[in-house]
Amino acid sequence: MYWGKLLFTATLAIASAAPVYGMSQTDFEQCIARLQDNAATQGLDSDAVRDSLAGIQYSARVIELDRQQPEFTTTFADYLGRRVTDQRVRDGRRLLREHADLLAKVEKEYGVPAPYLVAFWGLETNFGSYFGKMRVLDSLATLACDERRSDYFTRELMAALGIIDEGAIAPKNMEGSWAGAMGHVQFMPSVFQRYAVDYDGDGKRDLWNSLPDAMASAANFLSQMGWDDEYRWGREVLLPEEFPYLEAGLKNRRALSEWAKLGVRQTSGAELPEADIEASLLVPAGHEGPAFLAYHNFKIIMGWNQSEYYAIAVGHMADRIAGAGELHQPPPDDAPRLSRDQVMEIQQTLADKGHDVGEVDGIWGPATRRALSTFQDQKGMVPDGFPSREVLNLLDIELES
Ligand code: CA
Repeated sequence: MYWGKLLFTATLAIASAAPVYGMSQTDFEQCIARLQDNAATQGLDSDAVRDSLAGIQYSARVIELDRQQPEFTTTFADYLGRRVTDQRVRDGRRLLREHADLLAKVEKEYGVPAPYLVAFWGLETNFGSYFGKMRVLDSLATLACDERRSDYFTRELMAALGIIDEGAIAPKNMEGSWAGAMGHVQFMPSVFQRYAVDYDGDGKRDLWNSLPDAMASAANFLSQMGWDDEYRWGREVLLPEEFPYLEAGLKNRRALSEWAKLGVRQTSGAELPEADIEASLLVPAGHEGPAFLAYHNFKIIMGWNQSEYYAIAVGHMADRIAGAGELHQPPPDDAPRLSRDQVMEIQQTLADKGHDVGEVDGIWGPATRRALSTFQDQKGMVPDGFPSREVLNLLDIELES
């Protein structure tokens, strides 16, 4: 074997056909030198920062993780079932009681109810039991030196150096996820810099070792993003038999009173509350699964993580921690998982039939969902945009089981 240059390569235990990523030592060192200059021009030139930069190591594993694409779509049932477990709900309720004083104080000061804070904490790190074990500076520098999202990760690296500069944590203890999310609530460094607070008054913003700092920081972030303390995240609802499913989707916001006119009710069967607010209607597992109204705070949760599933999981988890039961209508667990190739096949088939799917990219997004709804509508099916076995058969998409 000839090694013309010393390469840092990903060691792959499985799949020898998988691509191997690497960057030469020389290229990486030159990149670090540029990052050092960049840091210095931002006034980041303390000994701690310089030592941190000098100790940075390339991580091929981070690049490998960055390039990983999910092989299959995740069904809503899978997603929710893995995150909002009975055990986690019990833990959340116990921690809500255990930290009642702290959480009440934070809630009063920032206007974000305690069950939501505990829900974020549970979803992000299973209540502080797993912060991620990667060295954040190595991860961020590796990604900053990589071409794919260099600018973004250069900014995050500078923010991380700023956090070291302020003495929030010793560089060797700055651990997190492979992409640089840190501490109890997995803040990226730029979010940390802007929103983290020292709530226990020890002079340090410490999101790894101080729960008061972590909870107040999460609340501060949500509050600054525009959390509405008058209303909840949304709620699960009941839809009438003849519901116009083409109205579903996050983008279609309507007054609560209009949803009520369309026959949307609370899961108890009661009328929707009378409130002058807007909401979107979501059916993440199709018309046979649960339906949700998403209020203003749903968008705020999505400011934390751009995923509708995530926002529903946080809202539902918060409800359960506050004492609510399971979903009224659990999502069917036999929904097909689709491979990227199958999603592309569906997209291409719909495009051939004249439906606008956006890009044929194998990603199941709003445009694909919308195109599928219009196809379902033409065929006299319930137009919920959900890739049920029935509609996939009609599109001639073969499923494995
Ligand atoms: Ca502190």
